[in-house]
Amino acid sequence: MTKITKSNKLHGVCYDIRGPVLTQAKKMEEDGLKVLKLNIGNPAAFGFDMPEDMHRDIIRNLYSAQGYCDSKGLYSARVAVYQHYQQKSLPHISVDNIYIGNGVSELIQMTTQALLNNGDEVLIPAPDYPLWTASVKLAGGTPVHYRCDEQQDWFPDLEDIKKKVSNKTKALVLINPNNPTGAVYDKTLLQGLIDIAREHQLLLLSDEIYEKILYDGAEHTSIAAMCDDLPVITFNGLAKTYRAAGLRMGWMILSGKVSAMSDLATGLDMLASMRLCANVPAQFAIQQALGGVQSIDALIEPGGRLFEQRNIAYEGLNNIDGVSCVKPKGALYAFAKVDTAKFNVKNDEKMMLDLLREEKILLVHGRAFNWPEPDHFRLVFLPHKDELEPAMARMQRFFASYRQA
Ligand code: PLP
Repeated sequence: MTKITKSNKLHGVCYDIRGPVLTQAKKMEEDGLKVLKLNIGNPAAFGFDMPEDMHRDIIRNLYSAQGYCDSKGLYSARVAVYQHYQQKSLPHISVDNIYIGNGVSELIQMTTQALLNNGDEVLIPAPDYPLWTASVKLAGGTPVHYRCDEQQDWFPDLEDIKKKVSNKTKALVLINPNNPTGAVYDKTLLQGLIDIAREHQLLLLSDEIYEKILYDGAEHTSIAAMCDDLPVITFNGLAKTYRAAGLRMGWMILSGKVSAMSDLATGLDMLASMRLCANVPAQFAIQQALGGVQSIDALIEPGGRLFEQRNIAYEGLNNIDGVSCVKPKGALYAFAKVDTAKFNVKNDEKMMLDLLREEKILLVHGRAFNWPEPDHFRLVFLPHKDELEPAMARMQRFFASYRQA
């Protein structure tokens, strides 16, 4: 029989956070080895429970959640999202321009599918959360990566963005707070991005899933709140701030010059209705999450669990000879630099495989985040300090003698 081959559409589409290194880790686990998986930002797996009230609201509403709902989502959930962004002063918003999805992931894919013609370009940060690059490619678009500058707290390099805008550029993606770098953008930087988008008539796509995971007094500003004359889509969800990744709940909201997005919105409506609707029981958690007590505060304040773990990761990485990392101001990750000359590193994925085999710690290599050089890796600082501290010591031991063959 002729081979059943995968579609050409998948050519060049990568999502290496769950790639070959994870496959190797799973094999090791099947052989009975204990692997510390610091590759995925899944808070529940490390004992971070979602707020009790969210459980209660899902359970109480289970019986009335058996049928499909509106393709854009439950009205009550969309009103809660609307009120959240009303408080953040997003201009020209309406409940009608809010879409609930099965995670932000689904909404990113819907947006890129609805937006892009073959060859349309989208400016995406490097490093990025790789779903953005993968989704743009899958939709036939061309991801064009702009550089974020490690020397400038990983802020996007505005000059690099300006150089990379072309007459095919349709949108500019920002991830703020950032995965994988932990950067939180200030208003000056956001204004710089707005100026570029305004000059070139670009759609702004702002992924803000770590909106409330902030350290050291960092403040988050939604870029959408700063411009009413540009089309902006803001993405957020329950996975991180509310530790409910398994619920698969996200939302997106159109704001600013929404009239410029009316055609795109008909495309989004169609794609939303093609997948009928998002999981209904989980939508009942949204109102409670956005309106309830913000239980994340206790975790990110000095002395809080996430705050402490961020410090352990930051200090631990910088204590390793040949490794350094910028202090993350938000999110759940540290993006560390390795001295490639010292360790003779040519292949960062191999470096991660070597670490996995020797110390049973699973990390993700920097190029998985579309970072161009093999000189970074990302660490998830979700484990409790009792696990994280020994892990940092094991990494120190690994790098003390590491030299890539
Ligand atoms: N956007 C960013 C920046 C992320 O880091 C993630 C998950 O790690 C997602 C989107 C996907 O979120 P969800 O679980 O809501 O699909």
